[in-house]
Amino acid sequence: MGELMETRKLDARIPSGPIEDQWDKLRFEMKLVNPANRRKHKIIVVGAGLAGAAASATLGQQGYHVHCFSYHDTPRRAHSIAAQGGINAAKNYRNDGDSIDRLFKDTVKGGDFRAREANVYRLAQISVHIIDQCVAQGVPFAREYGGLLDTRSFGGVQVQRTFYARGQTGQQLLLGAYQALQEQVAAGTVTMHTRCELVDVVIVDGRARGIITRNLMTGELERHAADVVVLATGGYSNAFYLSTNAKASNCTAIWRAHRRGALFGNPCYTQIHPTCIPLSSEYQSKLTLMSESLRNDGRVWVPKRKADHRPAKDIPENERDYYLENRYPSFGNLVPRDVASRNAKEVCDEGRGVGPHGQGVYLDFADAIHRLGLPTVRDKYGNLFEIYQRITGEDAYEVPMRIYPAPHYTMGGLWVDYHLMTTITGLFAGGEANFSDHGANRLGASALMQGLADGYFVLPYTVPDYIASNPLEAVSVSHPAFAAAEADVKDRFRALLSVKGKRSPDSFHKELGRIVWDECGMARSDAGLRKALEEIPRLREEFWHDLRVVGGMEELNQALEKANRVSDFLELAELMCRDALDRAESCGGHFRVESQTPDGEAKRDDANFSYVAAWEWTGRSETPPLHKEPLAFEHVPLSQRSYK
Ligand SMILES: Cc1cc2nc3c(=O)[nH]c(=O)nc-3n(C[C@H](O)[C@H](O)[C@H](O)COP(=O)(O)OP(=O)(O)OC[C@H]3O[C@@H](n4cnc5c(N)ncnc54)[C@H](O)[C@@H]3O)c2cc1C
Repeated sequence: MGELMETRKLDARIPSGPIEDQWDKLRFEMKLVNPANRRKHKIIVVGAGLAGAAASATLGQQGYHVHCFSYHDTPRRAHSIAAQGGINAAKNYRNDGDSIDRLFKDTVKGGDFRAREANVYRLAQISVHIIDQCVAQGVPFAREYGGLLDTRSFGGVQVQRTFYARGQTGQQLLLGAYQALQEQVAAGTVTMHTRCELVDVVIVDGRARGIITRNLMTGELERHAADVVVLATGGYSNAFYLSTNAKASNCTAIWRAHRRGALFGNPCYTQIHPTCIPLSSEYQSKLTLMSESLRNDGRVWVPKRKADHRPAKDIPENERDYYLENRYPSFGNLVPRDVASRNAKEVCDEGRGVGPHGQGVYLDFADAIHRLGLPTVRDKYGNLFEIYQRITGEDAYEVPMRIYPAPHYTMGGLWVDYHLMTTITGLFAGGEANFSDHGANRLGASALMQGLADGYFVLPYTVPDYIASNPLEAVSVSHPAFAAAEADVKDRFRALLSVKGKRSPDSFHKELGRIVWDECGMARSDAGLRKALEEIPRLREEFWHDLRVVGGMEELNQALEKANRVSDFLELAELMCRDALDRAESCGGHFRVESQTPDGEAKRDDANFSYVAAWEWTGRSETPPLHKEPLAFEHVPLSQRSYK
């Protein structure tokens, strides 16, 4: 093993003073690097999605020497491109009562009081700048007839603060960030390394000073040294195998950092999105999201009777159960995701689900088409209806869509302080890769907001402050720590190739996904999690005895790439279940069946669980130590969430 980082004390480094002034105060107190000195510093950014591209472009523009890495063939293929529905900002263009304070409170409440207040407040403050930045870049946000930016609603809020570009918001935002990145590539401040996968983080004298990558085209291992390393490598929903994430999304970068000493925050906080196309066959390898924006106009319902197999059009109004509108009259179809998902599962478990396997509920646009007219509905959601039609063969303008919850987003990730630094000094994490500002449940359209806040506005202050405040000796890739890390990686890849068993990496991934979905998905129980904690190590054991990876190491080898990623998922999944078992309360997307209110809502236990769980890696077979960052709620008083 190479050098392991000694864990820093869990100090969130929240600035003192009133919450509204904390970020401004810190920015003023931060140290600066003289423009002429910036080019002497090298920064590694891993990830070129929204968070990574935004950070690389901005740090490059400031004059630092940035090396940006992505396993994709171009930054434009980062998973961010898939984001559909929109991005939140407290602009209050609608004059409907929005404000920074309201966005802050909605987010803390939406996350079921498990996020750090100071970070969320900063996020709400920065949200307004993101829209200006993106408009200046030419991002074509939807506009009203008069030319003003249009907005719509997302779940868990009662204002219209979501800016969007049809159902392609992520794509348009990523193109904006990509242009900014390419401008810096042309200016020579950013060097792009595509098809290059981080396979380890290198620690020198207790600080992150570089990475080991594998060139995916040649298999060659490469060493890269820098003053700072930033991870913006996305989320880990593919631990479930089936998810709405891009197939390639994986946890290797953050898991490798975790194994080197970065504490992992709230691994069990995962989001199951209510609005996805239901699974149609056992052989499926991917699930597709139907954006939450559809719940602005679509009405969710199931038949009142069990096993009612009549076509939707033959079920009269009085035999339909618009269960979200009935149970949550204030928020109706726009309740937050965790609430909508749990309710969908409940009605399906009761035998009232629709579609071939009974694992679906209707999302019906008949009323919206009647009220707004077909052209308006087509304008707002056209591409989503087209996606649905291509996948299911059904025309959702004529028959209701069928939807069912699916793994979608991970609120857990590397623990970071207010500066977005992990517990490894000099290692930062942004975007979905960090444990983020969303607590136990992310509100719709808030991931893009957080990823861009981190990339355009937070890291470009905190990373230079770190550089200016810490005398960093030059480190070269010939340092023994690089050789040791590279040797570890080689051993690992050799081990994967030498098992020579019978099963493909995918078959293990699929089996793992089934365990995690069944026991650590929408509902979690003490008994189920204990079962998973027996099954996952057993499966991992089998992986290392019966895995088959064809081909060799020093060549393009997608089976080897996959095997390496699955081996990390097999470790992370265990931590997810351990964290879920340890947190014997329900909160947000983490629903422990033993902890519910009389009407079946998530019941928190603030006296015992009002903390961020930050887990330490000590080796595969040991029970990992748990560190706790206590959470204080001084501005949004703790209360039982109610969307009724
Ligand atoms: C279908 C879908 C729709 C969504 N819609 C919305 C929405 O409307 N609004 C909203 O707010 N959020 C939405 N989200 C969530 C949001 O899209 C993501 O949280 C966000 O885009 C993540 O951005 P990121 O920059 O953190 O990571 P990503 O976009 O996932 O980028 C990760 C980058 O890291 C690189 N990378 C990863 N690992 C390595 C490695 N080991 N080595 C080298 N490179 C690596 C990848 O190549 C990539 O460049 C949606 C998510 C999904 C799945």
